[in-house]
Amino acid sequence: MSCLQVNNLDVRHGQLAAVRGVSMTLNKGDVVALIGANGAGKTTFLRAISGAHSPAAGTIQLNGNEITKLSSHKRVAAGLALVPEGRKLFSNMTTEENLLLGATSARSGEWNIEKIFQVFPNLSKRRHTKTGTMSGGEQQATAIGRALMSNPDILILDEVSLGLSPLVVDQVYQNLERLLATDTTIILVEQDLSRAMKVANRAICMLEGEIVLDKPMSLVTRDEITDAYFGLH
Ligand code: ATP
Repeated sequence: MSCLQVNNLDVRHGQLAAVRGVSMTLNKGDVVALIGANGAGKTTFLRAISGAHSPAAGTIQLNGNEITKLSSHKRVAAGLALVPEGRKLFSNMTTEENLLLGATSARSGEWNIEKIFQVFPNLSKRRHTKTGTMSGGEQQATAIGRALMSNPDILILDEVSLGLSPLVVDQVYQNLERLLATDTTIILVEQDLSRAMKVANRAICMLEGEIVLDKPMSLVTRDEITDAYFGLH
């Protein structure tokens, strides 16, 4: 059974059709790089999936259950977790406190605070540190860990590298690579194509609200992705 099934999704910002007729099927363990220029509709699509923005048309199913009309909170309980652009941590709270906030839904599973510290060992040293005083990379790892605390079937990461120095991005990706070994299904928006190609096993490219390329990473070339990104055929 597919993990996530999106059918003909349309999402609008007033008059603007930001996502148009998007369909995709994700299977367990898929790591999808969602690629596209600024304004292509990636964030709008992810917001519709996570319940932050209602679609104008189309359906979303998670593990065979329709979730199109559920609130964001209920989608987390159903198995979706979003790490938003900009992290959105509580800076006056410690790493541990922020992580515990992620455990609000009653889903059981392999993830708990000790496993997060085991997979992201750099965070365990920061357990009792207020996140506002930590480096961007440590904060990003905390945001990813907080999302994992809900034991999601699908983890959605929107531009995890944004605003971080290359060195810190390396640290975040080291953490992500550890995560890949745990067979979590992931949708990743990443502007850095080399990094996206390295971690993902599938490339989906959006252009002006539509999917213009959807291929296994092993069967796609960098040129093909770049052409799709710029709308060249
Ligand atoms: P970026 O990488 O810049 O975040 P994106 O691919 O995520 O780009 P979206 O942010 O989803 O693209 O934007 C898709 C389209 O919707 C763009 O034309 C954008 O200007 C428009 N848009 C996004 N958010 C809103 C909003 N809140 N109100 C009106 N229009 C919006």
